[in-house]
Amino acid sequence: SNHVYLDYNATTPVAPEVVDAMTPWFTERFWNAASAHPLGAMANDAVETARQQVADLIGAHPNEVVFTSGSTESINLALKGVFSAAPDRTGIVTAATEHKAVLDTAAWLAEQGASTCVLPVTASGEIDPELFAGSVDQHTAVVSVMAANNETGVIADLAGPVDAARRCGALFHTDATQAVGRINFDVEHADVDLASISAHKIYGPKGVGALYVRRSVRIDATIHGGGHEHNMRSGTLNVAGIVGFGAAAELAAKQRDDDAERSTQLTSELVAGLTTQLDGVEVIPESAPRLPNTVNVRFTGADAEAVMVNAPTVAMSSGSACTSMVPHPSHVLIAMGMSADDASECLRFSTGRPTTSEDITEAVAALVPAVTRVRELTQ
Ligand code: PLP
Repeated sequence: SNHVYLDYNATTPVAPEVVDAMTPWFTERFWNAASAHPLGAMANDAVETARQQVADLIGAHPNEVVFTSGSTESINLALKGVFSAAPDRTGIVTAATEHKAVLDTAAWLAEQGASTCVLPVTASGEIDPELFAGSVDQHTAVVSVMAANNETGVIADLAGPVDAARRCGALFHTDATQAVGRINFDVEHADVDLASISAHKIYGPKGVGALYVRRSVRIDATIHGGGHEHNMRSGTLNVAGIVGFGAAAELAAKQRDDDAERSTQLTSELVAGLTTQLDGVEVIPESAPRLPNTVNVRFTGADAEAVMVNAPTVAMSSGSACTSMVPHPSHVLIAMGMSADDASECLRFSTGRPTTSEDITEAVAALVPAVTRVRELTQ
């Protein structure tokens, strides 16, 4: 197609190697990994290979990897599972820039009686470790902070909130969905108890993910049934999807540094192209550690939705969640102190393994007249 896809934080294509690894597990190797016969055992072996591959990507032990349908489910399992397993602790502490999967689960838990504390962030989207130190106490069950933000790419320093959780005996969960495969993310180094990850952000299939659960941590299931995944997530395993996740994880571990180097180059080409040809271009936030592939740009005086309409060949994200046809400005940018009007002028670009310099040139060539036109029309 003649589209330039710059929305890899939304999802990635399944890598050819991953498709190849998955294919037989749909057809001739269609078996149930829980079946007692030798064919079932072969499916189970494939799942265990994938479990090792996923564990290796994040520095975990395979026994600590629970397969799920994706990060949304992993996050629900982590937060609800901790609550259910620790009835004497009622607090949850998180930050305003988290993905809705965390914020909405925390809000739901509040309706069930949890005391949910959603902390503000700095103007650059960074968490304030002192706020965490002051908000986590012996009633806190779980602290949840994302490793990297999907809209701005801001990378969190988890050390402060992890330490706050440790000192109070609370568990620590991180939404590492956007961090894995893009930057080095290691559960031991980060010292987290729980981590949510998803295959479709790292060139694996949609609808499969994992929750890392540290060996010493006990959580209750949210999906009950046959007792799969050490009783933490029942349901016949998605063998083909899991095999694909494993292949994608192995590939991600191999390619991460090269991918990062290339995407740093490409995002800086994008910013350079836009800033040399347009006035009023601002990277949001201006200074904070960011994912190499992600850049959020504000085009002053140009409504992002209108720019998208005027540059239909560029696939990008306005970051606004569209609920019941009413666009809301990004809660992430609002949490960083932007006004709704300013936030509505921001677009997120995210590059991926297939992105080329030519893609960037084409995107800039489409965006410059689009922004110019929107500005003229709204003057
Ligand atoms: N958390 C973050 C930071 C994300 O970017 C996403 C992706 O949309 C999710 C959670 C949800 O992941 P999934 O699509 O696997 O449910």
